[in-house]
Amino acid sequence: MTAIVIEPDVQQKLGILGGEASDELTDVPTVPATQSIQQGLRHATGFIYNAQQEGGGTTRLFKVLQTNACRYACKYCFTSCAIKRQRTTFKPDELATTFVSLNQRKQVDGLFLSSGIVPDADTTMEKMLATVERLRLREGYTGYIHLKLIPGASYDLVERAVELADRVSLNLEAPNQQRLSELAPEKEFDGAMWGRMRWAREMMNRRRAEGKPAARSLTTQFVVGAVGESDRELLATVERAHRELGLWRAYFSAFHPIERSPLAEQPAEDPTRALRLYQSDFMLRDYGFRYDELPFDEKGLLPRDKTPKQAWADHHLHEPVEINRAARHMLLRVPGIGPKSADKIIAARRQARLRDMAQLKALGVTTGWAAPYLLLDGRRAPVQLALW
Ligand code: SF4
Repeated sequence: MTAIVIEPDVQQKLGILGGEASDELTDVPTVPATQSIQQGLRHATGFIYNAQQEGGGTTRLFKVLQTNACRYACKYCFTSCAIKRQRTTFKPDELATTFVSLNQRKQVDGLFLSSGIVPDADTTMEKMLATVERLRLREGYTGYIHLKLIPGASYDLVERAVELADRVSLNLEAPNQQRLSELAPEKEFDGAMWGRMRWAREMMNRRRAEGKPAARSLTTQFVVGAVGESDRELLATVERAHRELGLWRAYFSAFHPIERSPLAEQPAEDPTRALRLYQSDFMLRDYGFRYDELPFDEKGLLPRDKTPKQAWADHHLHEPVEINRAARHMLLRVPGIGPKSADKIIAARRQARLRDMAQLKALGVTTGWAAPYLLLDGRRAPVQLALW
């Protein structure tokens, strides 16, 4: 007897490939996973995400996989070929048309396209690029596109991605080859992943210098807490990526076990750990801290009960910082003061001396965090004691 295989229609594909893309965490969902967004897409799941832009602000992204078929068996991944599930693929035309329809209805402002890898890196990357080319060249779409680079993709395909997308990314997943081998035994860290990110950075710089279109930023993501890696290992790699690859930012996804995967019995990672990693990355990227100043303990972990900046300040800010005199780099070392509030403080104190916490609060300072470390015109800032 011949088995009849019924191909899912576009609406069903959207439910599968939009929903599965949401399993990969980067930004904050804006549409609940069960909420439909238009008639005719009733089974669509949580595929609209907020993404932060380089210049500030957010954009609503249609986050979707080209295919959820994959030849790899990464142990943390819902799409792993080791887990039996329905597989399907968007044809480039189908996906481009679906996106345009959502965009024209003002449901989404941009596209975030990722994919399982099948049968190989180049075939997958070509299919994703065909989708993006249809959007850019046939549909005349000029809005935001974030395109995942496929590990191991060829040079020309990486360059085409850099040319067409606004942002490219490649998920390193682990801080080094040893940890990656535990998470994704078939993947190669140095050449197929780090090496492709290095190509992308070089292409972005070269194309921009030549006045050609090029992606503006490069990002990556790590799975946190699946294989015993320390925060020190993760942040060493993040710091190197900032330095060598001009990484815009790193994303951290606290591990959560996937049913029927090899790590199904492993407990989920505490999301606070991911938060502390984000805060440390901001310290490296925006606050002028060096990697060797991060407050790791003897196991290479960050404190969870306070922010890494508070932990640093408790050990190093022995004298309070005078808000009316401190240089910008010193203001940035005070918990509760960020780059924007530091700039506002400097502008405000040119007009008048800053004498009370209400003034600082109005300038965007998180005063409860900052107070223990500040002098206000020669006087200690009042510290509100915790009631418990
Ligand atoms: S290659 Fe990507 S999609 Fe495939 S199993 Fe690994 S993480 Fe999942």
